[in-house]
Amino acid sequence: MDFVEWMIRGTRLPELMKPCVDCSSKLHRPSGKFRMNANGKLLDVWLLVFCAKCGRTSKVAIHERVPVAVLGNERIRRYESNDSASVAAALMDRNIARRNNYRLDWEGAWHLEVQPLAPCGGRVLVRFEVPVPIRPVKILMRGLALSRGKVVEAIDAGRITMPIDVNAKASRDFEFCVAPGTGGRDAGA
Ligand SMILES: [Zn+2]
Repeated sequence: MDFVEWMIRGTRLPELMKPCVDCSSKLHRPSGKFRMNANGKLLDVWLLVFCAKCGRTSKVAIHERVPVAVLGNERIRRYESNDSASVAAALMDRNIARRNNYRLDWEGAWHLEVQPLAPCGGRVLVRFEVPVPIRPVKILMRGLALSRGKVVEAIDAGRITMPIDVNAKASRDFEFCVAPGTGGRDAGA
């Protein structure tokens, strides 16, 4: 049986759904920069974001009054150098998002990289390089080049074996099986 991997890859950082205090915009973009403030042995660390419309800079709190020793030199060095992996990790951290009252807008910030499945069908492992909340049915529609109706029909008929709810948004890796000749690409649809 054929085995392929599909990958959800980030193409840029997602935007933040967070209203601007100066204008009507509800969207902010990450600047890719941290700002730190030392107060004795305590540190504040923020991620700087700017309004997508007027450009006003806002701060997203990452650490508040945390002892230097708790963060450690290596982590502080990454903040000081605006390390891009640390920017992405902070932005996508659910606790940070909740505390700072924003949600991420992933529109246009990711794409699905598909390895074609052989006509004999097989297993597909869907991996998330970035945590995009997405309904699995959408991944199957794109990857197999099928309409929503055809995907649901194939699942109901047992030609696609799905371990999870195709309509519940998920951002965790999952695997499914496809029977021979199910994909639209193979069928020439
Ligand atoms: Zn603004």
